[in-house]
Amino acid sequence: MAGYDQNNVFAKILRGEIPCRKVLETEHALAFHDIAPQAPVHVLVIPKGAWLSSADFYARASDAEIAGFHRAVAQAAEQLGVVDKGYRILANHGVDAHQEVPHFHMHIFAGRDLGRMIKPPEK
Ligand code: AMP
Repeated sequence: MAGYDQNNVFAKILRGEIPCRKVLETEHALAFHDIAPQAPVHVLVIPKGAWLSSADFYARASDAEIAGFHRAVAQAAEQLGVVDKGYRILANHGVDAHQEVPHFHMHIFAGRDLGRMIKPPEK
């Protein structure tokens, strides 16, 4: 896999070079609203470190970063008020999953019935 691109859009958000609608920020993570929401609630949680994708992050990040990141996902869901009715978390890695931004991120979807898991591709 190619190296981390310091100019990807989430790296720019972390450096404050482009704005975001922030939900929360912790030592290890930043959560903000997706610019093109696919559900009434669609928030992204990103680690602050330069990690390309889930494969990179889970293989190489420290235990503190991994724990801190997941706690931030849970905190964001709580702050968004979606815990009682439910939400889905999802991370895309690589081409088949259509990962668009090469900085690891977890999507939080909520605010309606999200259906069951993955639909097969349309023929
Ligand atoms: P993925 O396909 O998993 O890489 O998802 C990337 C997500 O980033 C998409 O849902 C985009 O709508 C979202 N996105 C791209 N640029 C921005 C931005 N500047 N602010 C917030 N979300 C963004």
